[in-house]
Amino acid sequence: MHRFMVAPNNIANDEITLEGDDLKHLRQVLRLGPGDTIHVFDGSGIEYEASIISSDKSRAIARINTSFQNKTEPETRVTLFQGVPKGEKMELIIQKGVELGVHSIVPVITSRTVVKLNKKDSEKKAERWTKISIEAAKQCRRAYVPQILEPISFDEALVKAEDFSATLLLYENEGKKCLKERLKCYNINKIKDIALFVGPEGGFTLEEVRNYTGKGYDIVSLGKRILRVETATISVLSIIMYEMGEMNL
Ligand code: SAH
Repeated sequence: MHRFMVAPNNIANDEITLEGDDLKHLRQVLRLGPGDTIHVFDGSGIEYEASIISSDKSRAIARINTSFQNKTEPETRVTLFQGVPKGEKMELIIQKGVELGVHSIVPVITSRTVVKLNKKDSEKKAERWTKISIEAAKQCRRAYVPQILEPISFDEALVKAEDFSATLLLYENEGKKCLKERLKCYNINKIKDIALFVGPEGGFTLEEVRNYTGKGYDIVSLGKRILRVETATISVLSIIMYEMGEMNL
């Protein structure tokens, strides 16, 4: 079934209005029209099955047949604080992160972040990253679109992390603590809100790690091999979701 996302105010009186790019996609790519059934969500958790009743160049109208609560959201809410890597790696991380159930993503500018983002670049990137999140959410049947927040500094991220029940940072030079033990502890204590820090290609500096541990947050290793940043993020999200029981049916 083809899925579309609309703004909440495009749903009224049992009818859904599709416009803009979605309308183009519906008409020109999928070649759908009156009589065809679609799935629609508005990002809030409710999903609709609707039948198209009219369609022209400016809008398509679909009548709602049924609505249901979409149950694809994990109970574990992981906010990824991602040290911004170069080029397309961030886009890959966003796409895979959304599929794996990340709750939101905060791009973090660390000491070793190579990408320079001025205000205009930041806005452009934010727009592109949000689009990737929407597309990934649509594809993987989530009813909630993870928010991609504005890039912030590492110090700002440390303050933001205070709002979470648990904070984890992946550090390749950590010799003792492994992820499995930490997650066991979160499971026992029913911790559902996790802030997760992953570094950029160059990793975190010793000073950043010291500032971080100074706050009393957790640090973990993913083993003896150094993973590329995208491998590290995708792996850790998979492991967290699995260990927290979010990959069960
Ligand atoms: N610059 C470092 C590697 C950075 S890897 C070096 O070459 O030695 C990028 C990020 O992935 C790191 O900041 C860390 O958050 C994560 N990472 C990669 N491998 C890891 C491992 N074995 N354990 C924990 N974190 C790891």
